[in-house]
Amino acid sequence: MRLTRYFLPVSKDVPADAAIVSHQLMLRTGMVRQNGAGIYTWLPLGFRVLQKIEQIVREEMNRAGAIELLMPTIQQAELWQESGRYDDYGKEMLRITDRHEREMLFGPTNEELITDVFRSYVKSYKALPLNLYHTQWKFRDEIRPRFGVMRGREFLMKDAYSFDLTEEGARASYNQMFCAYLNAFDRMGLTAIPMQADTGPIGGDLSHEFIILADTGESAVFCDKAMLDLPAPGLDLDFDGDVSGEVAKRTDFYAATEEKHDEAEFGKIPTDRQVSARGIEVGHIFFFGTKYSKAMNATVQTADGETVPVQMGSYGIGVSRLVGGIIEACHDENGIVWPQSVAPFEVGLISMRPKDETVAKVADDAYEALQQAGLDVLYDDTEERPGSKFNRMDLIGLPWQIVIGPRGIENGVVELKNRKSGEKTELPLAEAIEKVKAG
Ligand code: ATP
Ligand code: MG
Repeated sequence: MRLTRYFLPVSKDVPADAAIVSHQLMLRTGMVRQNGAGIYTWLPLGFRVLQKIEQIVREEMNRAGAIELLMPTIQQAELWQESGRYDDYGKEMLRITDRHEREMLFGPTNEELITDVFRSYVKSYKALPLNLYHTQWKFRDEIRPRFGVMRGREFLMKDAYSFDLTEEGARASYNQMFCAYLNAFDRMGLTAIPMQADTGPIGGDLSHEFIILADTGESAVFCDKAMLDLPAPGLDLDFDGDVSGEVAKRTDFYAATEEKHDEAEFGKIPTDRQVSARGIEVGHIFFFGTKYSKAMNATVQTADGETVPVQMGSYGIGVSRLVGGIIEACHDENGIVWPQSVAPFEVGLISMRPKDETVAKVADDAYEALQQAGLDVLYDDTEERPGSKFNRMDLIGLPWQIVIGPRGIENGVVELKNRKSGEKTELPLAEAIEKVKAG
């Protein structure tokens, strides 16, 4: 993408109403624009990141055997009346009346809708296990939307729903999602810690929140330091096999959110390993058994011809919250420092002298070569001063910068800068491309 043809409304001012650094940086880099409290337009740069995160989540859901579909944002009230949550959900639910005076709502989550899909088509144990998911906008009329996209009212969530014949089977499905989540967050460059959590209005008795540690996090969390060093299960994990060992490895350590915190248990960890910190919840998984299937009559026939309610779990990832969460974890005094996997562009190409014919030609050729190599490139071909170009590239945080100037051209090299380490090297373009591709 040529910057002269792109839409990147970067601003120098630090927005006064943004309380935390990720929100400030998202506004300054023109990633989002607020429309109303907790409601945002995703501008091109922000939208690219949102899509990259969504795609990583999609790939890891698919790898774990979940199947994608798409449910609507606006739902009829009836299903919620059936489950009993129409009244329970309270003021966070945005209720709408259509022209025929029908009660509708903007979905805050989708347990009811998916249970209805399931019961309409699945009648036999033979179709199980089944895990269906979508990534869709949700609306919750949060009492205090704040911190930008981290606590929005409209937000993008991936939600998956598992269906099993037995409780044992449902726990196996839960474990698969547990591992898939760790892999997905790991691919985004995040250390997300699974912590025992309250089930809240979703209901059920087994639940983990996935937390990234950050001073600006809304939750108080407690865990064993050893958990921070545990590698993710890895993309070669066999999801058709038994993954409970990977889960046990982590649930053996103490890790709990404030609601589930047990001071006595925490005290048993060696003092130098006791982590008491703030955290951002980026994912939440629940096993709730037959809570919805009983209320909504979602049953299947067993091999013996018996009719039983299906065992369910639900699994959410805050896709839009993650954009802010990643920035909280990945920035420095000059701006954002994107992990390459979610960066809006992998490399920023800077032409030092776009008015100089030779420089322009070499930079244009480099732009072509980078694209040929399959890289996402933002090409700063503007005529601004080099200083402001460098500052802007640092601010938007692309992992690599390639600078084309007259001196390098004479020597047959470009300057490659790594945004995270700040390290600069001069090397031929072809070698720079290899380095960027290697990540
Ligand atoms: P919280 O305790 O932060 O309100 P929750 O427990 O209500 O979250 P879930 O219903 O489990 O959230 O939703 C799944 C995921 O969706 C959460 O882990 C979080 O990442 C994201 N999420 C929830 N509420 C919001 C919001 N208001 N804005 C952005 N993301 C959100
Ligand atoms: Mg909530």
